[in-house]
Amino acid sequence: YDDRDGTIWLDGKLVPWRDAKVHLLTHALHYGSSVFEGERAYNGKIFESRKHSERLLFSGKEMDIPIPYSVDQIEAAKDEALKASGLSDAYVRAVCWRGSGEDMGVASSHNPVRMGIAVWEWGAYYGDAKMKGAKIDIAKWKRPDPATIPCFAKAAGLYMICTMSKHAAEAKGCSDALMMDYRGYVAEATGANVFFVKDGKVHTPTPDCFLNGITRQTVIGMLKSKGVEVVERHIMPEELPGFEQCWLTGTAAEVTPVGQIGPHMFEVGALTRDIALDYEKLVRGQLVDA
Ligand code: PMP
Repeated sequence: YDDRDGTIWLDGKLVPWRDAKVHLLTHALHYGSSVFEGERAYNGKIFESRKHSERLLFSGKEMDIPIPYSVDQIEAAKDEALKASGLSDAYVRAVCWRGSGEDMGVASSHNPVRMGIAVWEWGAYYGDAKMKGAKIDIAKWKRPDPATIPCFAKAAGLYMICTMSKHAAEAKGCSDALMMDYRGYVAEATGANVFFVKDGKVHTPTPDCFLNGITRQTVIGMLKSKGVEVVERHIMPEELPGFEQCWLTGTAAEVTPVGQIGPHMFEVGALTRDIALDYEKLVRGQLVDA
C-alpha cells in the first residue's frame, strides 16, 4: 500500500503518498499506542462521518492518546483527504498514534500525538461471500474482560486478537472468525458485528465488551423501522444450530450474509437480502422509508 500515487493527509497537510512515513522509533510501533477509524464514502460523502470522528476522539480519550484536533477539524481534514483522492466511493482510514520523541520506554507522555488520513478504493470486504454467504471459523481467542483494556475503543492493540483469529480462519479456507467473549458468549467477528434470525426475530449479542458498531446501530434502526423485533442479549455458542439466518455488519463489511459458522449452516434468506439491499440504498441516500 505504500508504493502508489496520490496524497495522504499527515499532521495537517497533504503529502505525496510515498512520503507518508514514520520513524522506526515510533511509540505506536513498539507498544501499540494507536487508535483509528474505518469509514466509507458513497457518492462523494462519508456515511456517518461525524459519528466516526466522535468515536476517534472517544478512542483517544479511552486509550490515553490525547488527539490534538476537534471533531470539526477532523471532519475538515477527512473532507480534504477525500477530495484530494478524486474518488467518490472510497474507504477512509483515519489514524492517531504516539510518535517518536523524547521517550522510548513504555511511558510516552512527551512524544507528539500524530494523525494521518488515507483514502483508497476498497471493494467488497468479503469478496463474493457478499452474494453466497461467508464461511466463518470459530476463533480460539476471546474478546477480553472490560477490566483488562478499554474495550469500546477502536484501538490498534486490541486488533492483534483479530489478526491472529483471521489468519487462523483463512488458513482453514474461511473468510473470517467468530470470536466469543471472556465469559464464553458470542461476541463478534474480527472486524464486524453479528446478527442472527430465528422465527422472524433478530438476535444480536449485547455489546458490553466489544464495539457497538456504527453499522450495527444503523441496521438495528432499519430493522425496527421495518417492524422487525430485535433482541439484544447474551448468546451462547450452543444456540448457533437453532438460528436460520446470519449476517455480519461493519463499515468495510457493510451487510454480508453468512452461510456457515464452524459446522453450522445458515440460509441466505429474505430478511438478510432485504437488509443488505436496504443498507446499500441507505448509504447512497436512496432509501425513502427509513
Ligand atoms: N467490531 C470490530 C472489531 C470492528 O473492527 C468493526 C469495524 N470497525 C466493527 C465491529 C463494526 O464497526 P462499524 O460498524 O462501526 O464499522
